[in-house]
Amino acid sequence: MAAQIIDGKALASNLRKSLAKAVRGLPGQPCLAVILVGDNPASQVYVRSKVRLTEEAGMKSIYHQMDSTTTQGDLEYVLDMLNRDEAIDGILLQLPLPEGLNQDAAIAKISPQKDVDGLTELNAGYLFLGKPGLTACTPTGCVMLAKHALGEDLTGQHVVIIGRSILVGKPAALLFLAENCTVTIAHSRTANLQEVCRKADILVPAVGLPHLVKADWVKPGACIIDVGINRIEAPEKGEGKTRLVGDADYENCATKAGHITPVPGGVGPMTIACLLRNTVIAACRRRGWTVPDNI
Ligand code: NAD
Repeated sequence: MAAQIIDGKALASNLRKSLAKAVRGLPGQPCLAVILVGDNPASQVYVRSKVRLTEEAGMKSIYHQMDSTTTQGDLEYVLDMLNRDEAIDGILLQLPLPEGLNQDAAIAKISPQKDVDGLTELNAGYLFLGKPGLTACTPTGCVMLAKHALGEDLTGQHVVIIGRSILVGKPAALLFLAENCTVTIAHSRTANLQEVCRKADILVPAVGLPHLVKADWVKPGACIIDVGINRIEAPEKGEGKTRLVGDADYENCATKAGHITPVPGGVGPMTIACLLRNTVIAACRRRGWTVPDNI
């Protein structure tokens, strides 16, 4: 039996529509500041779409393009300026930063109230303690996709996350735990990875290795939320062409799984929608507005 495809594009579009509606009902317009340092082409594409979708949701966006010769001091000066600017609700620093810049130090400069990526120590700490903060966008999107597929109550589901990064694996584990799931974090040193994966009701590969997860790693009927984004050669599309794939061997895993997210069109669009959601939440909390409950 073929898996049901979880349409992340449609779910993200619905979330953005709800956000746009919620924004129209707010006493003011939230504003997201996006900073890109350097000229990484993939980052430029991501940043452009974040800016466009922020505006489409009825919010303001401010875009700071800083060149690749930017120093740590220049970057931190801009972050300080945005922290102090009363008109700015969210600050998104596009990662990775060019070599030579200290990513951790830059993130630490972002005001936790405006940290819409949920990466500062305070927001990571809130997540650990189960207190309301701003949660990392990709993991938040993963939980929403799982709920969309399996229903709101994920209690008792065994979630296996492959990857233990600060950006995805660790926060995803804590978010699924908060949903009363039983969580296993697997990683590059996990023994018998395939066997561990075979126990998963919800399998979340977040590694960055194309086709890592094979069909025989998947428990029949499991839900696969594929975070990986990998660019591979695609000679079938013509010479020198490439295409994006996830960490799961999609065609084969889809014969075994109950639900699966495609790449592209799964976790990626949800990440951006969750960024917009965090911007609305950050604006409401900082400005003392009621956070809309339908987002
Ligand atoms: P990372 O490199 O920081 O972490 C990768 C993790 O994979 C590590 O914890 C490592 O232990 C684990 N790993 C490495 N090799 C392994 C192996 N052979 N077996 C098992 N585990 C292994 O990467 P990241 O930032 O967490 O991103 C992971 C992937 O998710 C990348 O492909 C990235 O592009 C993608 N990503 C997608 C989105 C999105 O919006 N869809 C957002 C963030 C990251």
